[in-house]
Amino acid sequence: MARNFLICPFFRSPQFPARKSARISIRRASSRVRILILLVSLLVFLPVGCRCGKSRDAQGGAWSSASGDKILIVTTSSDFRDICRRVAGDFAEVESLARGDQDLHGIEVSPSHILMLKRATIYFSIGLGMDDWAHKFIRTSGNALIEPGAKNHFVVASFVDIIEKPAPGGPGRTIHLQGNPHYWLNPENAAKIAAAICQSLSALYPARRADFEKGREEFTRALDGAVKEWKRKMRPFAGRKIATYHKSWTYFTDFFGLIEAAIIEPQPGIPPSPAHISDLIDQLKREKIGVILCEPFYPVKVPRMVAEQAGAELLVLPTSVGGIQGADDYIGTMDRIVESVAAALRKGGK
Ligand SMILES: [Zn+2]
Repeated sequence: MARNFLICPFFRSPQFPARKSARISIRRASSRVRILILLVSLLVFLPVGCRCGKSRDAQGGAWSSASGDKILIVTTSSDFRDICRRVAGDFAEVESLARGDQDLHGIEVSPSHILMLKRATIYFSIGLGMDDWAHKFIRTSGNALIEPGAKNHFVVASFVDIIEKPAPGGPGRTIHLQGNPHYWLNPENAAKIAAAICQSLSALYPARRADFEKGREEFTRALDGAVKEWKRKMRPFAGRKIATYHKSWTYFTDFFGLIEAAIIEPQPGIPPSPAHISDLIDQLKREKIGVILCEPFYPVKVPRMVAEQAGAELLVLPTSVGGIQGADDYIGTMDRIVESVAAALRKGGK
């Protein structure tokens, strides 16, 4: 995670410091370090408003400028970015730290992400520890407005019902420390996410409440129509068992009445042992589980081998907007997932 953060090309130059005297190398290195420190200082410590000739309003919560530039809202995930764009409309520019084909449990952050965070007026986090990795980058950006706990930093998990919360005694060996954080894959939760964003934006900008509410209603109306269709397509497969790689799909399977019967990871974030894989293959054969769902960012080697040996179909499907080509918005992404799962279960006949 974060291996790219502030890796400077100065330190990767093939000429540096080979075949030079130690004295010259040290002098050049010192010079490069000074330049790097200067660049990072300019990046992080310049007053935020200087970058675009803009300044905070009296509440410190909005940009104002003669050119009428929009505020910037940053989200962790591309799903929240899409939903936030629907709610905020033309009021704000919305960007996400993660692409849809990245594992939200930890992404590599670049200096451009720090600049994005530095410019942001509002931040929407997934919560439950899933995107805590973003906290240190927010702090590096020096933008106190969106620090964890600040009034412009919203944790969306607090607006939805979370499943698989840890039992008393702790979560054990898992990266799902506070419950399952993949809640946006239940389409009813997408409506709650839109409501959370609408409520949060309205609290900061009450004069725009009607606009945000209109955006939320339009998104929810489109979502409701899509959900009816998704339910119709998935209804014949209620009660069917499937296997998954990670517990990304639990909200999805619960919503559509599927049974998440086998998981390649023995615990979230824990790689499978050969014995676990062998048991899993036996289970798939014994219980006639014909479909394995896998996220696009996990190595496909193990799930492919399991699928081949168990006679199951492996589906690599997006878990976020943009996770695969053509999954360009939340409803479109869920469309792709539902279509693919329904087709595989229909074909599998197991
Ligand atoms: Zn997870």
